[in-house]
Amino acid sequence: MVKHHVPATPANYALWYTYVDQTIPELNAEVDAILKDFDILPPVNINTLYRNHIAGKAEVSLHELKHNMEALVTEVSSSMTDAISDTSQFSKVLEQSFDGLSSSLGSERNPTLDDVMPMIKRLVDEASDIRHSTDFIHGQLQNASDEITRLKAQLAKVQCNAMFDSLTSLYNRGAFDADMTMFCDAKQPMSLILLDIDHFKKFNDELGHLFGDTILKGISQRLKQACRGGITAYRFGGEEFALIVPNKSLRVARQMADALRLTIEKMTIKDRKNGTTVGNITASFGVAEFVTGDSYTSLVDRADQQLYDAKRSGRNRVMPF
Ligand code: GH3
Ligand code: MG
Ligand code: MG
Repeated sequence: MVKHHVPATPANYALWYTYVDQTIPELNAEVDAILKDFDILPPVNINTLYRNHIAGKAEVSLHELKHNMEALVTEVSSSMTDAISDTSQFSKVLEQSFDGLSSSLGSERNPTLDDVMPMIKRLVDEASDIRHSTDFIHGQLQNASDEITRLKAQLAKVQCNAMFDSLTSLYNRGAFDADMTMFCDAKQPMSLILLDIDHFKKFNDELGHLFGDTILKGISQRLKQACRGGITAYRFGGEEFALIVPNKSLRVARQMADALRLTIEKMTIKDRKNGTTVGNITASFGVAEFVTGDSYTSLVDRADQQLYDAKRSGRNRVMPF
């Protein structure tokens, strides 16, 4: 793990233990393939491997969350059933006692203490029972409410930990930050491609935000297809995307970016609402290669500067030229 710059987290230990144990040959094959491409295991790969091979067998948080939710619903619902049965029993006793009292009061002779005492005693006993039962249910509901608060926090954490962008299903910005940091810390030779769709606002304004979303999905699809040989695509934010290209020089990454630029330029997307086909979608690219001493910030800044130059010099181009 030290050799491959893998942080010592419980999930990583589980993954590497299984790797050394060789109990899941597919896992070993995948890890070996990644290590062959580059010398480190990027966090997104670790996460995917963990999810596919290890977490599936253990109880993952989402699974556990679902299980806890179900248990909670069952518990609250059985408390409710008990409460309903207890209160209906109490209301039956009330009814019988009142019937008894009113028939005693309606009779010729005045009721004696001996006549009403058993009824009063039964009422007192039942009232005390129902009080215990409501106290018990109150306690259970309080526990349930605490448990709901805990589960809500757990759900928020699971959602926020997710590595994927929900619209495009590319890796998200959090995943990009984690991977880039690890690549830079490990001084892994690589290039970074940033791309930004040209005049995207115009598509949104003219065709609607939902159609804008369809364009984002279409471009993401093309980016995914470009993810071979260890390349990973991320949604950097809005209409901006990033590709981490391990072990490739600026020159090679530039060529890849230009191929992508041409693919996007040729892309057409159909508007399902009115059947019209939209083309003329272009993007601008900025490319930078990792050099010794680079940090996350310096490398992203350099690629961003190139992207800015591509915009300024007319868009639909890759910089550096
Ligand atoms: P430029 O060529 O200079 O990049 O121009 P632009 O219009 O692409 O850039 P600008 O930053 O002015 O506008 C980006 C637009 O992207 C604005 C924002 O509403 C839109 N956008 C960001 N995220 C989404 C999204 O998830 N869906 C949709 N439909 N639009 C988005
Ligand atoms: Mg932008
Ligand atoms: Mg743009």
